[in-house]
Amino acid sequence: MFKLTNKSVIITGGGSGIGKAMAVLFAQQGAEVHIIELNDQAAADTVTEITTAGGKATGYACDVSNQQQVVDTFAKIGKIDILINNAGIAHIGRADNTSTEDFERVFNVNVKGAYNCLYAALPAMKANGGGVILNTASIAASVGITDRFAYSMSKGAIHAMTLSVARDFLHDNIRCNCISPARVHTPFVDGFIAKNYAGREDEIFEKLSKSQPIGRMGKPEEVAALALYLCSDEAGFITGTDYPIDGGFITL
Ligand code: NAD
Repeated sequence: MFKLTNKSVIITGGGSGIGKAMAVLFAQQGAEVHIIELNDQAAADTVTEITTAGGKATGYACDVSNQQQVVDTFAKIGKIDILINNAGIAHIGRADNTSTEDFERVFNVNVKGAYNCLYAALPAMKANGGGVILNTASIAASVGITDRFAYSMSKGAIHAMTLSVARDFLHDNIRCNCISPARVHTPFVDGFIAKNYAGREDEIFEKLSKSQPIGRMGKPEEVAALALYLCSDEAGFITGTDYPIDGGFITL
């Protein structure tokens, strides 16, 4: 079950954290993985890890917020069976202290970046007879995390984008879903703690872990396993849905 033999999979932000765990797992399941990364060294390291283990992977230096770069990169890749819009950035701030620059930076990557990838991938998917799209949102979209105004808004847009695309391409054999993690232990979280709580890293890590109802952060591999299911043929009846993966954050 959950085999992806010879499927061509694009994963944005596949050089780190959740995207990297997806890239490694999808390659283990037989996919040819294409990693789209701002950080080309992270992409290259992930490609090396996958190919050393006998998998198929290629890295591409590409900023998802730049439509021309995305279109050119996806044209090089050609066949696209699965697109995972996963690259994302965070920002701390409320509506009354988020600058226009910060607001636009978050939306350019988290929202416009996903749109750019859809714009480039959908014609290729349609020509190929169908495909699967998975978007990484966040529980921030549903609960509006404190002090994450632009980030929460951007992830809400990903929820709406998922519904819109699922509906518009229902009869093109294209499924579109999203996943909404609570805190997952990745460089994204470590970087956030280091930047904002220098000298208190262990204390804040513990506090953030305990703030999850389940008492710990998620693991990137746990999120990758959900992504694998949703992108596999076994999930063929699932589209237009958001899957929280949150240790009970939303419901408990
Ligand atoms: P991460 O920082 O470990 O990895 C993100 C990757 O995206 C990085 O390698 C980075 O270089 C890449 N990236 C950033 N901007 C890019 C751009 N413009 N073009 C191409 N690549 C770019 O982060 P992560 O924790 O693995 O998060 C992945 C996704 O999951 C993000 O969308 C994030 O919002 C979401 N998410 C994370 C958590 C968490 O707690 N880690 C929780 C909920 C949602």
